[in-house]
Amino acid sequence: MATAENVARARTEVATLVDDFLMREIEISCMCDAVRVRITDEPVEQFYCHCDDCQAASGGAYIGVALFPASAVKVTHGELHTFTYRTLPRQRCAKCGTHVLAMVPGIDQVGVKANLLPRGMFQPRFHIQCQYAVLPVRDNLPHYRGFPPHFGGTDEKVDW
Ligand SMILES: [Zn+2]
Ligand SMILES: [Zn+2]
Repeated sequence: MATAENVARARTEVATLVDDFLMREIEISCMCDAVRVRITDEPVEQFYCHCDDCQAASGGAYIGVALFPASAVKVTHGELHTFTYRTLPRQRCAKCGTHVLAMVPGIDQVGVKANLLPRGMFQPRFHIQCQYAVLPVRDNLPHYRGFPPHFGGTDEKVDW
């Protein structure tokens, strides 16, 4: 019988299923919508990068990055062009130029530009490459001078 309590419980279950689905599979697109990328896993890591390569590529002081397992990131529509400013190969939409992905050399992970993720998904845990920073960001996250230890760097931080 559809009592109010049963209906409420069913609604909660459906909401949980939808949340679950949204967490596991998302689709991002470039600004012109020609490129669509399906992502089927949680981010491995999320952070801000202040390196001069990201500055050159983005035209901004720093960028937000979410790293995903490479196997979980698939281009489903459109064409990405690969470009490299200094060191890191990045990919942008062949039509509108939106920077979408970065290939991380040596590890099987792909960096996704955080501004393309669904609202609320990007939850950065630290800042990296702060030695290059042109705009100090004062927040409660760790500010690593280079790469953090689990990225093969050191624990050295900058004092902002
Ligand atoms: Zn585009
Ligand atoms: Zn960078």
